Amino acid sequence: MLSFEDFKGQSAHIGQLKADFSSHAFVHAYLLCGPRGTGKRSVARLCAMAALCRGEGDKPCGQCGPCRRILSDTHPDVHTVLPEKSKQTIGVSVLRDVLAEVGVKSFEAAAKALVFPEAERMTPAAQNCLLKTLEEPPQDTVFFLITEQPGALLPTIVSRCRVIRFHPLSQQDCERRLIALGLSAQDARRRAHMAEGCVGQALAIDEERLALMEKVTGDVFSVHRSSDVLSVVNLYKDDKERQKLVMDLLETAVRDIMLEMAGKASMEEGCYAQQARSYARTVPLSGALALAAKITRARMMLASNVSFASAFESVLLKISEEYARWPW
Ligand SMILES: [Zn+2]
Repeated sequence: MLSFEDFKGQSAHIGQLKADFSSHAFVHAYLLCGPRGTGKRSVARLCAMAALCRGEGDKPCGQCGPCRRILSDTHPDVHTVLPEKSKQTIGVSVLRDVLAEVGVKSFEAAAKALVFPEAERMTPAAQNCLLKTLEEPPQDTVFFLITEQPGALLPTIVSRCRVIRFHPLSQQDCERRLIALGLSAQDARRRAHMAEGCVGQALAIDEERLALMEKVTGDVFSVHRSSDVLSVVNLYKDDKERQKLVMDLLETAVRDIMLEMAGKASMEEGCYAQQARSYARTVPLSGALALAAKITRARMMLASNVSFASAFESVLLKISEEYARWPW
């Protein structure tokens, strides 16, 4: 089982949270914010466990009935608030239902916890409804608002929460954590690198993604002339599910290519195709910078509903231009 100690590097407040929840001295609302995969949800769960644990000694014990029920998401006093099925947002009706339940005496415990894994999904009306509750919070109830985008919450809500910020780990610390979780040294290194120190993200990286990185970089950096562009666009233009991922991967690849050019040896074995390595050797840093800017612009094009084919084509044309300038 994970413990508070596992998250010490990710937030400065972990020790305080452990002490507060173990001694039932928590405040009524916490805002846990930071990038994906930095431990926000796991820490909220540990806090709820520490508050409700009935074990002896260090809390949470992970073994008692309440701890086990929280670990299996079946504790009746720990509610997870999500959008309704088939909806993207948490509307005011969802919130009212949950808050009505909180008003009822707790089933078995001295505290209740409401966890909002994506708090930014609350509509403004739902946020206002929550705000009223936070102004006069029910006794022994704790709200965990979790988000990557604290700016999407009303400032009046944020001001009523104790804000706990989460950060990615350094690459080395991330690697150490992954090895402690049972990964091989090589796998840990590769994943820590791709996830930029976010342990949860590193664990979520699948082999499919790694294989796709190799394929995408192989295809993209084999574009040496403008006449090569169309065939590569055609490989990806109909695969809607992967198009955002392809841009994400390309962005990561170009970042690593630039680091490699700067002598940081960041292109991990098993991630990048040979074509990407030869691009890194052929084109100067200024070329890679121009490519990075092109990818940023392509993302903006996608956000304003330009077709993937056009956005992707502009990136590939840039690569062919650079190859033309710097003979390979
Ligand atoms: Zn316990």
